[in-house]
Amino acid sequence: MKNGITESLYHVAIAVRNIDEVAKLYEMALGLKITHVEVVGEQGVKAAMLEPEGGGPAIELLEPLSDNSPISKFLEKRGEGIHHICFLVDDIESALERLKKEGVQLIDQSPRPGVHETRVAFIHPKALKGVLIEIAEKNK
Ligand code: ZN
Repeated sequence: MKNGITESLYHVAIAVRNIDEVAKLYEMALGLKITHVEVVGEQGVKAAMLEPEGGGPAIELLEPLSDNSPISKFLEKRGEGIHHICFLVDDIESALERLKKEGVQLIDQSPRPGVHETRVAFIHPKALKGVLIEIAEKNK
């Protein structure tokens, strides 16, 4: 992979009020299975990854653990629904460098720890027509 350009769609994240309830719903409706659950204390968020049996992009459910969590604010403003889309990159530093060179507005200037042993950065939704995009590199 050259220039840190995206490799593949990694997950679509959904902000929810109760992960357990929504995970059951998605399992019933779509047959997705929970493959990972994690509390990201620093961001006040509980996350669960749901994957289709055949592999491929996952659904990430995000539940706020406190009122200060960015997910709480999202739920207050917009209710439950799609929060962001995440692409995998091979090299997050060069991806960020490329985005800066192109003048794309970023939320994160440098990578931070993400869910499930990744390093991640968010691109500002203003830069991409109202869609919050995350890029993630799997820890090697
Ligand atoms: Zn994500």
